[in-house]
Amino acid sequence: METLYNYIEGKLLPPHAGKYIDNYNPAEGKVYSLIPDSDERDVAAAVAAAQHAFAEWSSMPVDKRSAILLRIADLIDRDLDKLALAESIDNGKPVKLARAVDIPRASANMRFFASGAIHFASEAHVTGNEAVNYTLRTPVGVAGCISPWNLPLYLFTWKIAPALAAGCTVVAKPSELTPMTAFLFSQLCIEAGLPKGVLNIVHGLGTKAGQAIVEHPDVTAISFTGGTVTGRKIAATAAPMFKKLSLELGGKNPNIVFADCDFEQAIQTSLHSSFSNQGEICLCGSRIFVEQSIYQKFTDEFVKRTTALVVGDPLLPETTTGALVSEVHMNKILSYIELAKQEGGDILAGGNRVAVAGKCAQGYFIAPTVIAGLDHLCRTNQEEIFGPVVTIMPFETEDEVIRYANSTTYGLSATLWTENLKRAHRISAQLKSGIIWVNCWLFRDLRSPFGGMKQSGVGREGGWEALRFFTEAKNVCIKL
Ligand code: NAD
Repeated sequence: METLYNYIEGKLLPPHAGKYIDNYNPAEGKVYSLIPDSDERDVAAAVAAAQHAFAEWSSMPVDKRSAILLRIADLIDRDLDKLALAESIDNGKPVKLARAVDIPRASANMRFFASGAIHFASEAHVTGNEAVNYTLRTPVGVAGCISPWNLPLYLFTWKIAPALAAGCTVVAKPSELTPMTAFLFSQLCIEAGLPKGVLNIVHGLGTKAGQAIVEHPDVTAISFTGGTVTGRKIAATAAPMFKKLSLELGGKNPNIVFADCDFEQAIQTSLHSSFSNQGEICLCGSRIFVEQSIYQKFTDEFVKRTTALVVGDPLLPETTTGALVSEVHMNKILSYIELAKQEGGDILAGGNRVAVAGKCAQGYFIAPTVIAGLDHLCRTNQEEIFGPVVTIMPFETEDEVIRYANSTTYGLSATLWTENLKRAHRISAQLKSGIIWVNCWLFRDLRSPFGGMKQSGVGREGGWEALRFFTEAKNVCIKL
């Protein structure tokens, strides 16, 4: 069985306490590797290494820093197949999805921020004939980056790439449920010649290793992606310490379908936006609202195609829906399906655990599930389920659907299907969501800001916003 190690001061090290956590292959329901159960001593060593490396890394010419990060991106591309396989085994997602989306986007993150840092500029203001003010941006110091399990390497690099590109040194913690690609990434960093201590990766539990990163007084900025409950806990610790804080949290995203949509595109993309990655993407649309006049036609076709999705071994090419990340998470989703029934929902598709034959017999699979007949304010329609479960309901008017869409405490993303341009603008302006996709889903331009509204997050990441986050701005005013 493989044992993973922390990456501290350029070396792969066992945890201080010598304790390890079981790492499961969720498609087989079996332990397949061991990860360090790190504690505050490992975090302290990682922070000390990052502090030590800061002076050299932050003052390195930006093109040289960028070249090292680009080298890491090249190595990710070189190891695409290996990383995709590792991510699929670790997470349960279809390997073809990891190959097409997660790993290429991880390399794109590295590339984008490595190049972005070269073009990064700050502002200057000439105040009449009296003074020149310019904004001096310096890296904030040691950044703590904490990422979730659903898109492991993609979101890990989404946090660390802008921090490193901006000149910060980093202590990062991937999710304990999916540590493998971050471990492989640490090996690529060594191969690429990343100076020791610039990036440190501490594996372990959120409540122990993660909490120790957030609490450490020398970690000056925290960039976190994960659940809203965890985000609240992190904010409660970090805010009184006056740390910079960026939180990307949960969602309950509406997918709004008007009768004038391109029906085929809306159906096909809604299938992806509902069930890609087993519905374990924060940006998945989990509440589908369909205009009354096409509600029955849309629902019938959507249910037919949902039922045709292939649940099974993530390593097989025909599989569209792999395993849920853990047994605990699978049971949480099953309990939400039970709740939906108690709340009066009709299960139109799925609703059950799936037994997959062969080596995946003990795996954590749930059939893609469509539920109708629920009120928009019931718990099933208000709480994040984060699995292959969507609800579907009709609406009559624009005002009504905007009210439904905005009725949760979340505000991460929304999808809108209409061929009416004026309506698209009108509704986009009224939806309380950080990103609104019109006639598409998951299309990303990394230059645009990204982040949720309401309880889906604080601060914007992506583009210049992310590079700015990892800097401190200072105004220099020169009297002419
Ligand atoms: P989680 O909050 O349980 O864990 C996320 C990370 O935080 C993990 O690395 C975990 O170990 C760590 N952690 C847990 N407790 C901690 C603590 N007290 N202090 C510091 N770190 C701690 O989330 P998850 O279950 O891994 O991921 C699923 C959630 O992430 C969903 O809610 C999903 O919507 C959200 N998510 C949001 C985005 C976004 O961009 N907004 C993207 C992906 C996932």
